[in-house]
Amino acid sequence: MPMAGDAEIVLLPVGDTDPAIVARIAARVGAALDVEVVAGQPQLLPEGGFDRRRSQYRSSVFLESLDRLRRSIPNQPRPYLLGVAAADLFVPRLNFIFGEADHAAGVAVISLARLRPQLYGRPADPPLLEERAFKEAIHEIGHVYGLLHCRDPRCIMLFSNTIEDTDRKGPGFCPDCEGQLLGLLGRRSGLRP
Ligand SMILES: [Zn+2]
Ligand SMILES: [Zn+2]
Repeated sequence: MPMAGDAEIVLLPVGDTDPAIVARIAARVGAALDVEVVAGQPQLLPEGGFDRRRSQYRSSVFLESLDRLRRSIPNQPRPYLLGVAAADLFVPRLNFIFGEADHAAGVAVISLARLRPQLYGRPADPPLLEERAFKEAIHEIGHVYGLLHCRDPRCIMLFSNTIEDTDRKGPGFCPDCEGQLLGLLGRRSGLRP
């Protein structure tokens, strides 16, 4: 499959996601983390992920599909993959999630469904949607690198229960999480968000 040469992270539109927003988030994530991030080919919705009773998609099915895709990449080291879905995602214990990561597999997924202002009775606001998606992308990539949740309400690694949490936090890391991430990235100097 087409994968840009030495990218560290590849963002992939999954299903109905507008590739343009994925390209913009990829550029912002790359600038924020100072690593090469590209937008890859749009992917089909994974089969078997839809739960009819909930009218939502099972996040684990997206992660499994991204895991298979990542294993098929010949480049070594393989880039980390972040799927960007328009579909509303859930895990069995929660009524929805903004995203989920599998650190061991090197993959993550975010959903735009609950980031849209229209869901909260507000007018469409593409810059706000993009800002929220950028934050959730950074959060899940933090998990991919091995960061855990943080209690600092301003830190991007805070677990977002609600859209207000997402709007309040980040996009930067608290000093503690930044230090950990720089260690995981094997770098000394600062991150930009
Ligand atoms: Zn998280
Ligand atoms: Zn933190």
